[in-house]
Amino acid sequence: MQTRNLKNRDDRAHALLLGGAVREMTPSVYEVTGSKHYTVITLSATTTCTCPDHEYRQVVCKHIRAVELYQASTHQMHTVREMVVA
Ligand SMILES: [Zn+2]
Repeated sequence: MQTRNLKNRDDRAHALLLGGAVREMTPSVYEVTGSKHYTVITLSATTTCTCPDHEYRQVVCKHIRAVELYQASTHQMHTVREMVVA
């Protein structure tokens, strides 16, 4: 069940990325626009997001995953699909 949840979140992150929802403001600040607009900040060891999912539940939300996928797809030319499966 946990695996399914993770996969669904990654699917949503993937959809955000493909939909052009991720905007790189600086190398460590990203804006992700889904149903709402959130800011994802990546620092050396921690990544934070302004959405309730992350702030209250401390989970890696779909916005953070979308930024991770974005970084992976721009910095290495792996396909996003491979990242989601992995
Ligand atoms: Zn979030």
